[in-house]
Amino acid sequence: MEKIITVTSPLIPPLEEFTPYLEDIWKRKWLTNNGHYHQELEKALCDYLKIPFISLFTNGTLPLICALQAMRITGEVITTPYSFVATTHALWWNGIKPVFVDIDPRTGNMDPDKIEAAITPKTTAIMPVHVYGQPCDIERIKQISDTYGLKVIYDAAHAFGVERNGNSVIMAGDMATLSFHATKVYNTIEGGALVCHDAETKQRIDYIKNFGFANETTVVAPGINGKMDEVRSAYGLMTLKHVDKAIEARKQVAIQYRAALVDIPGIRFFEDIQGVKHNYSYFPIFVNEKQYGMSRDALYEKMNCAGVYGRRYFYPLISTFSTYRGLDSAGRDNLPEAYKMADQVICLPMHHALTESDVERVINLIRN
Ligand SMILES: *Cc1c(COP(=O)(O)O)cnc(C)c1O
Repeated sequence: MEKIITVTSPLIPPLEEFTPYLEDIWKRKWLTNNGHYHQELEKALCDYLKIPFISLFTNGTLPLICALQAMRITGEVITTPYSFVATTHALWWNGIKPVFVDIDPRTGNMDPDKIEAAITPKTTAIMPVHVYGQPCDIERIKQISDTYGLKVIYDAAHAFGVERNGNSVIMAGDMATLSFHATKVYNTIEGGALVCHDAETKQRIDYIKNFGFANETTVVAPGINGKMDEVRSAYGLMTLKHVDKAIEARKQVAIQYRAALVDIPGIRFFEDIQGVKHNYSYFPIFVNEKQYGMSRDALYEKMNCAGVYGRRYFYPLISTFSTYRGLDSAGRDNLPEAYKMADQVICLPMHHALTESDVERVINLIRN
């Protein structure tokens, strides 16, 4: 039996590298609540990501929920069905009605041409996703949000380190969120962050993630416990030193895939975008059954049988899940491009530890 190739593999530095951090934490006897490593990681991430303010969280879902709380978003929020389910769940947990708009098949991101028609008197914000780390049409979305007086919160869970014309894409919008889950390009095992643009907002977010405590006796909001602990903050400092090398290895995998897949009829994939520094977080392909001669699911099964585990991100669409399928905006007629992409996608194995021969094995399964 050949070795199993998984869609991702967590970035885990050698254990010896982590031991000194643990010894230091044991000495300090400070395990959570804005400790030494928590502060160090916030500083290091601001430097690395070229952003002024970040607030760490214990996962990537709570910053979405807390961003909506911090800005007091209510009513309806325009979002994309083509994402991980946490994006829409965050709205639901705030009692907000998600309004889905279709995607642009060239990027997988929310189609800005579809946003205005979805705005109602109850709309208060737009929540787009930089899906697969591909930057949204930030300018168009800003123009629309400015015109209608809407807030914008980007779910930037896939966009760690992505830059456009030298600027971090997570600077776009009123706030942006990150996920540092084990499966992401950069991980703290579980973890996440909320990015904002001024010190007052960061202060408010820091209160909200700690039950709303502003001091020993004052609670300013119905906050939650979203704090990241010292052990995972230290883990994050350690993995941050390895992330550039990991992204470079991913880039080589993307180059190898593209060179081989370009000749296969019915297989579409994304190219790098001019001026964008990509993070190669995912490598989605889109199977056109007629041209390729086999369905997406048949190819997916064939790969699985050969020990190559791709994933159908993002199938099924969020709009098909029981909580959301009754919404007016959830139907296939409103979201034709999103349904089509969800029906065609396979994310191929993509991580820092894939060898050339691993990638060759994946390619050969698609080729014949
Ligand atoms: C991973 C992910 C999240 C949630 O992050 P967790 O850290 O797993 O809570 C949210 N949105 C998107 C688009 C994601 O891919």
